[in-house]
Amino acid sequence: MAPYWRPSEICLCILWVTNRREYLLTAPARAGWRDDAPRVGARRARAMAEALARADADGERRSSSDYASTSASDAAVSEETTGTKRLYASNDALARRVEEIARTTCRGLARTRVLGKTTRGRDVIALEIGSHVRVAGEGVAHAVGTDAGGAGGASTTGADADGTDGGGAWSAEGRLRFGFMGNMHGDEPVGREIALDVARWVCERATTGPISDAESTGAAGQAADRAMARRLVREAALFIVPTVNPDGFESRTRGNTNGVDLNRNFPYTAFSLPKTLSGRAGALGGDPESNVRQEKETEMIMNWSRKWRLNGMLNYHEGALVANYPWDGNGDGSTTYSASPDDETFKYLAKTYADSHPTMNQSEEFEGGITNGAAWYPLWGGMQDWQYVNTGTYSLTIEVDDRKWPDERELQRIVDEHVQSSMVTCARTLFGSVRGFVRDQRGRGIAGASVAVGDDTLPVTTDGLGFFSKPSAPSDRPTSITVTPPTRPWVRYPTFKSTVDVIDPFNGASLDVVIVPHPSTAVRLLRAAVGLVFVLLSIAGLRLRVLRRRRRVFALQESLADNRDIEKAIANRRGANRSSPATTPRVS
Ligand SMILES: [Zn+2]
Repeated sequence: MAPYWRPSEICLCILWVTNRREYLLTAPARAGWRDDAPRVGARRARAMAEALARADADGERRSSSDYASTSASDAAVSEETTGTKRLYASNDALARRVEEIARTTCRGLARTRVLGKTTRGRDVIALEIGSHVRVAGEGVAHAVGTDAGGAGGASTTGADADGTDGGGAWSAEGRLRFGFMGNMHGDEPVGREIALDVARWVCERATTGPISDAESTGAAGQAADRAMARRLVREAALFIVPTVNPDGFESRTRGNTNGVDLNRNFPYTAFSLPKTLSGRAGALGGDPESNVRQEKETEMIMNWSRKWRLNGMLNYHEGALVANYPWDGNGDGSTTYSASPDDETFKYLAKTYADSHPTMNQSEEFEGGITNGAAWYPLWGGMQDWQYVNTGTYSLTIEVDDRKWPDERELQRIVDEHVQSSMVTCARTLFGSVRGFVRDQRGRGIAGASVAVGDDTLPVTTDGLGFFSKPSAPSDRPTSITVTPPTRPWVRYPTFKSTVDVIDPFNGASLDVVIVPHPSTAVRLLRAAVGLVFVLLSIAGLRLRVLRRRRRVFALQESLADNRDIEKAIANRRGANRSSPATTPRVS
């Protein structure tokens, strides 16, 4: 059995602990972080040692302040490459670069959004790409399919200060939606660079004309890439968020400014952290204390996810090379496979990613380069489980390299490899989905309808226009579709059931549903109540008429009786006058 600590690991921990307190917790745990993975196993320790040795040898090892640079040193990292190296962008340089991409490469096809502020008050910026985006004063840079149009919209900057929707034609509703997110852990910066290049990849290819004859080498591949990019821009809204934890990047720490691990800070969903777990398991899988309250960054991601209900998401991390899928958690804290209802789909999407990467699927550590979260090690409060349950988002945690903060000389290669895999996975998630609109008989979208594809899967929900998209593994067998519209006070929609015969990997399956509503129980009760009141009023009216008639008859009878009395009195009087009116009445 291998010793618990190898000398190389001890040295590394002493070195690293100076500016990463989390390692005190993670290294002894030894079971390895994953998404986060400083996975201080022998393999990782070797890689870290090699990287540090290389850096030391050529005198290029820099302090953390060089990376999380201040404004003064921005110039040093504001250029993407120096010689053959691509440098990590500082926070300020990254923000500038996002704006620059929106203005140039993606001109007319993108706008920036501020999703919110971090604990230390930094803006978290997203780039939204798609033909639905119209920025006033800027025409669409190039024709993109049939959706290319002129300038429109009302914004002058294209940026929404509060991340709210510009409304109307700008809305990403009714479209496929996908997210790319980097740097959730502050000391894992590669995702920032991948996200930037994803934006460039899409816009450059979507706006380039047909391939000329001169471009003979790899022309077919380039044509396919351009077609994919154009289709993405035409049919989807892509949300690119290079960093959600710039504070952690600045201090080069895993957590945010409060030291909270954001990927353990989401509300528990399918599973809660088992109470029986020891501190060690807690350190690995999440700390219940730090899960009580959501950090600003976590709230921001949750709001963003709820607003757009992204169909798919890639969340870039470092410390291994693997595509990781839900569930992350389980009920007992064991390191065993925890299959979600959509296990087949998740495996397919993770495999799509690993197979499109040059080396990921050749992993010696993970079969096929993919892993179920809990089968690697369980954690609770992670983003991917929360998104799957709450927003119908098929999110993968992509570990992009065995090393954290890899050497800049390798950065461009790592980025290129992951951009390609990301685009293929994004397209397969979106275009291979079962999707369509749910509308009523007047053609109005029914929002909030639940759509289940297959028998045991978790349903997705329709957006404000009645659009849904459920990522799915391909299938050539009939698959059941069940649409359950929401219950409304005044309308009752029946449940709709159907099947799709084939789910194609490149085109998915389309299903537009029209549901004619019935009156709801409330309306039927109201109608019954109105009917009852009408009947009661009619009865009351009838009774009133009878009473009035009786009263009139009675009055008439009384009047007749009065007449008879008067006649009698008159007759008596006449009789008395005929006898002797002067004599005293006779007494008999
Ligand atoms: Zn991570």
